[in-house]
Amino acid sequence: MDFLWQKVMSEKASLFGQIFSSKLVRGSYKDEPCDIDFKMKGNDQEKRRLTHLVNTIARSSKIGKDILEDAAKGGYELSFEYQMGSYGYCGHDNKDKKPVIVLNPATKDDDLITTLVHESRHAQQNNRGLGYDFGQLNVKSEVMLFRAMEADAQTCALMAALDIRETTGNEAPFKAFDEKCPNITAKLPKPIKDKEAPFKATKVLMQQAFDGWYDDSGIVYSYEMSYITSPMRRFRTNDKFENCPYDKNLTSKEIVEKMCLTPDGQCYFSNKPNVLEDKKKLTVNSCTLDFVDDFFRARENIKKVAPDKSYKSLPVECLGSSYDTYMDFDKLRDNKAEKAKNNIILNQKILNKVAKSK
Ligand SMILES: [Zn+2]
Repeated sequence: MDFLWQKVMSEKASLFGQIFSSKLVRGSYKDEPCDIDFKMKGNDQEKRRLTHLVNTIARSSKIGKDILEDAAKGGYELSFEYQMGSYGYCGHDNKDKKPVIVLNPATKDDDLITTLVHESRHAQQNNRGLGYDFGQLNVKSEVMLFRAMEADAQTCALMAALDIRETTGNEAPFKAFDEKCPNITAKLPKPIKDKEAPFKATKVLMQQAFDGWYDDSGIVYSYEMSYITSPMRRFRTNDKFENCPYDKNLTSKEIVEKMCLTPDGQCYFSNKPNVLEDKKKLTVNSCTLDFVDDFFRARENIKKVAPDKSYKSLPVECLGSSYDTYMDFDKLRDNKAEKAKNNIILNQKILNKVAKSK
């Protein structure tokens, strides 16, 4: 993120947050105490909306409640911030580095319910010692860990949506999830999906949902760019090679035993601890490998550091784009960010005009 973009975003995002959560757009929310002791940032209406989301989960899903409670215990603060093309994120505040979960107020509540579970699960993963920064693990371990973190967070989001449907009959969060991620819900046994059998978050069901995440190659590919090649490009452009040793190794077993836990704390892959070594879960796009090769060659030339070799054994698939298109894709994304920035400035001009005309 360049400086201007960040500055524009931080100034305008909270304003958009207020507009999208306003009574005019959302209607009103009950003024009630929050069942989970989360820190919250925002105006009264935003806090009421956050409370509504937290309480909906806490009152009707045991798995969701446990995950949210862990995030709250970890000190994560909830807030709204307008984000382009994202439902929310879990990370650290730019200014004071405190841990935050930030939701996109433009998203409808049924989607935000599963998003809040998803992001809180990331908080829980971080609390369990899996919150590695980019460039610390070797590339193979990054591929295994970052993909698994997403698959596990989506698994928990789906389990919470099913739990809510089972307990209260409210199908909306499940239906919204199903629309967004049909590849994951397609893995559910038909009687569970169609509500013909009682739901329980079993190990088998969680494994099935987890596996489903890898079926959408578009998503897997986009995370490959966000989590592998984009950080490399930033390290390289900013000459920050010393911040990215790419040398720590994690095994599949180490990852799943810390991360893939059922509501009662058992590893849902205890019968398959090497699951992340499956061919499908390790396959990367050939363009990613070209990019990674190029990165380590440059690091070796400039800093005389030996390249990481861990990724050399990864199965490769060509998604039909060349190295050049890959570079173009990165540029395209930058252009999109540029457009988004301009849109926000434009929107602000419109808002100013409206304010003046009143
Ligand atoms: Zn995620």
